[in-house]
Amino acid sequence: MPTIAERITRLREEIPEGVKLVAVSKYQTPEAILEAYRSGHRIFGENRAQELSAKAPLLPDDIEWHFIGHLQTNKVKTIIPYVSIIHSVDSCKLLMEIVKESRKASRNISCLLQFHIAREESKYGFSIGEAAEMLDQLRQPDLDPVSIIGVMGMATFTEDTDQITSEFITLSGIFRELREKFFLNQPAFKEISMGMSDDFKIAIREGSTMVRIGSAVFQSSI
Ligand SMILES: *Cc1c(COP(=O)(O)O)cnc(C)c1O
Repeated sequence: MPTIAERITRLREEIPEGVKLVAVSKYQTPEAILEAYRSGHRIFGENRAQELSAKAPLLPDDIEWHFIGHLQTNKVKTIIPYVSIIHSVDSCKLLMEIVKESRKASRNISCLLQFHIAREESKYGFSIGEAAEMLDQLRQPDLDPVSIIGVMGMATFTEDTDQITSEFITLSGIFRELREKFFLNQPAFKEISMGMSDDFKIAIREGSTMVRIGSAVFQSSI
């Protein structure tokens, strides 16, 4: 069984330079996260507010925490002290709560807009129309100190690689359309967060800049 450090090294070889590896550490103990940290890894992703705010204070300060799960507005406050990027902004109400709490805490937070690209109904996320309607109304001063730096999406849970490929192509298209319409003079808007353990190679081929990988890094402990 390869160690966590060996798995990360192997993944880094498979992931091009410009693509960030977010090691998804949900359900993992602080000890397992430290093992990855000691191998040099610094970017970790969590999908539950309570779990992030319990583990982050126990771990080194220079970890860059990403929040990747559905976030309820009443939990925003608890993660703001720790998080640097929130991948899963799926409503205007949530975005404005993040703005409010970031101002109170004087923290610069980057956000990605999550899009619903999968066939499953249960996945959270904007449609392009909903996002455009929101972005039409917002100016950067309304958001400071929050920046919108890109988009995120999850493909359908399926073995059908054509289906997965077409969903990732859809997300890349949404990214380009939003960049052209709303972020032309904002070079910070450059991230496409897509790809997990089973589909990251397809995601990278279709333009991913951030892959969120859990089980291929940490063997499942559940
Ligand atoms: C758990 C999770 C991942 C990682 O999934 P793996 O298949 O374990 O790599 C990525 N993104 C989100 C939003 C997740 O909840």
